[in-house]
Amino acid sequence: MRFVVGLKCVHCGEQYAPEAVDYYCPRCGYHDGILDVIYDYDAVQSELNPQSMRGKKERSMWRYLPLLPIADEANIQHLQVGWTPLYHAPRLSAYLGVAHCWVKDEGRNPTASFKDRASAVGVIKALEKKASRITCASTGNAASSLAGFAAAAGLPATIFVPRRAPEAKIAQLLIYGAQVFSVQGTYDQAWELCMQASERFGWYNRNCAVNPYLIEGKKTVSLELVEQFNEIGAGHFPDWVVVSVGDGCTIGGIWKGLKEMHRLGFLSKLPKILGVQAAGCQPFLTAWQQDSPLVPVAADTLADSIAVGHPRNFYKGMLAVKESGGAFVAVTDKAILEAMTALARNAAVFGEPAGVAGIAGIKQAVEMGIIGPEESVAAIVTGNGLKDIQSAVKAAGAPVAVAPDMEAVAGIIGGILL
Ligand SMILES: *Cc1c(COP(=O)(O)O)cnc(C)c1O
Ligand SMILES: [Zn+2]
Repeated sequence: MRFVVGLKCVHCGEQYAPEAVDYYCPRCGYHDGILDVIYDYDAVQSELNPQSMRGKKERSMWRYLPLLPIADEANIQHLQVGWTPLYHAPRLSAYLGVAHCWVKDEGRNPTASFKDRASAVGVIKALEKKASRITCASTGNAASSLAGFAAAAGLPATIFVPRRAPEAKIAQLLIYGAQVFSVQGTYDQAWELCMQASERFGWYNRNCAVNPYLIEGKKTVSLELVEQFNEIGAGHFPDWVVVSVGDGCTIGGIWKGLKEMHRLGFLSKLPKILGVQAAGCQPFLTAWQQDSPLVPVAADTLADSIAVGHPRNFYKGMLAVKESGGAFVAVTDKAILEAMTALARNAAVFGEPAGVAGIAGIKQAVEMGIIGPEESVAAIVTGNGLKDIQSAVKAAGAPVAVAPDMEAVAGIIGGILL
């Protein structure tokens, strides 16, 4: 917290001291009054700059402590989070029709999704507050990651998930020992329940939209992306950074992190941001196309992690695309399943549906002429494919059944070869 100067409301502009408020702007309420953590960047730069980072050994998100709202390093848990691999993927670039494609595999985090960056911070803030329990509502990954980090800290967790969350994610919650409410309703309903429970029982609230600190964890993916690219990328930073969008917190964090790296002298030119939604749930795309306020929708997509009909971080998500001169696109479930196999077969990275939606979005944006064939892209693959086996099987089909007999194998092989 050494460099945090305050929390600023994105709606009314009021700035608060960090001790003065826990979650959202009291004047604007939790629908509009989302707070942004403000730093003294001149002071940050004296510690965090291209020279100082060169010899830095820490290879995790804690590499960027001066840019994180952490009061006491002793609360950092032992799990390795961040510094996920960045791959150059030439065959995938050819498939997508772009000059270069880089893939950042966020499925390599402790609970196998990008959400770990936020939960790592959330648990620390709960410890700082001496909370008795931490809670969140989630389509799956925020929950499983919170359960993991709560287990690391020995902090009790209560989690609200919609009935439709994939089995593997629920299994994660239970194995880490969280108390799990499977809400017989939508994600939006689970979210409202969690908000009320947190208020009523005084539990620490990890929901990304109302908790200003979580996006600070999420932004670290961009801090890494820039540094890793400077190491391996040889040349100019990708023209586009691409990610799937549900609540809008991830894309907002990505943009904040990029702006910070630009401000601190690591990045000469800011990229454009491509936000990718599912065709069955595209409130950001609609609002962006029509330049209109948010209209919540009913979500219908197999990409559960972005099945968010009422995005809770609409302002920050929209700002990322508008300010960067980027775009939103939407992709069908069929395109998402195709992207799942394309990413696995051309770059050997296995992502869950929402994790690969960005890849499908690149293809779509190239077809629409939004991304040019001479441009390069960096895709954030936000979650691991093992989290949703049903979708993977839908994408990849069934194995060939064969008798335990070599002639039967040869017969099939011959048939395939002929
Ligand atoms: C949460 C999530 C997203 C979207 O992040 P938002 O902050 O809700 O926009 C994308 N992909 C995966 C795998 C996620 O878990
Ligand atoms: Zn306000």
